[in-house]
Amino acid sequence: MNSIVYVGLGSNLKDPAAQLARAVMELSRLPRTTLLAQSPFYASRPVGPQDQPDFVNGAVQLSTGLSPHQLLDHLQAIEQAHGRERLRHWGPRTLDLDVLLFGSHVINDSRLTVPHAELANRDFALQPLLDLNPELKLPDGRRIDQLRAQCPDNQLRKLPPMAGSD
Ligand code: ATP
Ligand code: CA
Ligand code: CA
Repeated sequence: MNSIVYVGLGSNLKDPAAQLARAVMELSRLPRTTLLAQSPFYASRPVGPQDQPDFVNGAVQLSTGLSPHQLLDHLQAIEQAHGRERLRHWGPRTLDLDVLLFGSHVINDSRLTVPHAELANRDFALQPLLDLNPELKLPDGRRIDQLRAQCPDNQLRKLPPMAGSD
């Protein structure tokens, strides 16, 4: 049985929009996985340290037969292939891939917290989810549109579609 999964993408180094576009293509090629839809990309002010470039964020909707931990392994391999280094917490990075939602699974272990722990506080994650599915809810029934209306403002700006996308 496949699960419908939402993966959040973020970058603020080395041509962020191009990093995201390449990552979407790589996600579409994962084993036992189909790319169902891709959100627009948004620019936003960084969370945490402010002495770094703005972020570009987006999300994709996947159908996958991978387990949550198998998917995380693949996401981390893609991050590594994009030259990601772990310098400081919430610091600049070439690519960040987070499991935002994995079907209606609730996971809390040493490697995975799903739904993503900070999802409800991040407009740059909630807005792309809404673009992908306006009816989307958390496993506990809370509506993504309501969380979006209540969450702090990171000055999201929708970016024009990239040439060659779609
Ligand atoms: P944040 O969690 O606030 O978005 P971050 O994305 O900067 O922070 P990372 O350094 O990318 O954090 O990841 C740290 C660890 O978070 C990973 O090694 C992974 O095991 C764990 N993790 C827990 N839940 C998730 C999730 N839903 N998606 C991705 N990684 C997760
Ligand atoms: Ca993150
Ligand atoms: Ca991450």
